[in-house]
Amino acid sequence: EYSVELKGLNKVYSNILKEDTIALKDINLQIRPGEFISIIGPSGCGKSTLLRIIGNLDKPTSGTIEYRDGADQQMGFVFQDSVLLPWKNVRQNAEFPLVIQKKQTKENEEKLDELLELAGLSEFKTALPRELSGGMKQRVSIVRALSYDAPLLLMDEPFGALDALTRDHLNEELLKIWQKTKKTVIFVTHSIEEATFLSDRVLVMSARPGRVKEMVEIDLPRP
Ligand code: ADP
Ligand code: ADP
Repeated sequence: EYSVELKGLNKVYSNILKEDTIALKDINLQIRPGEFISIIGPSGCGKSTLLRIIGNLDKPTSGTIEYRDGADQQMGFVFQDSVLLPWKNVRQNAEFPLVIQKKQTKENEEKLDELLELAGLSEFKTALPRELSGGMKQRVSIVRALSYDAPLLLMDEPFGALDALTRDHLNEELLKIWQKTKKTVIFVTHSIEEATFLSDRVLVMSARPGRVKEMVEIDLPRP
């Protein structure tokens, strides 16, 4: 049983002034519920395009995507530059999806505070985004993406703009949080270290133009 299944996905960007770009070519992928899967490959190989298509933010040129168990109804997103509402504090930003969806139940509010605690943000609940470091802002956006019951979490280079030390630190925290929440995570990165540290499965995308984007799968047993 899969939560998302991609069959024969192609994506071509048409350009008026130059040749078309084949961003994705014949991608087949089955995403299992609860797995942490990383997609790696050099810049321009189509990782973000693939993630956007899985996230319903873009359409494939051809091919199909099937979602099961409401995976397409709710998805959490974390991008490289998280956008926080500048006039809302840390807790209010993290709570925002619950407010929008009118799901501010006692249970959800308690869960939110637990997540803030896990992310090391308990003492900064009333801080405004401008008072936070880059790493802390990314933590807020991760908690925000986890605050409601989206079974699928999509992350595109969430720590790409951070220094190596902060990045290692946040990866450890992300792993801890993931182990508690057991969501399906699709994580895009160009760092093999990051991918192997975090994932159950790594998909390596080729960047050779015109080639079938055959993805090499590496299964990593968890300790
Ligand atoms: P990655 O995330 O691996 O760096 P992308 O998915 O961003 O790769 O891009 C894949 C290819 O598609 C690149 O050659 C890029 O220039 C091209 N591309 C991405 N988005 C667009 C777009 N909106 N219009 C035209 N070409 C695009
Ligand atoms: P991160 O590793 O999340 O990027 P930094 O390395 O910038 O955070 O900061 C390290 C520590 O400094 C944080 O974990 C936090 O305890 C503290 N800190 C960061 N920003 C602030 C702030 N605006 N006010 C008080 N303490 C802060």
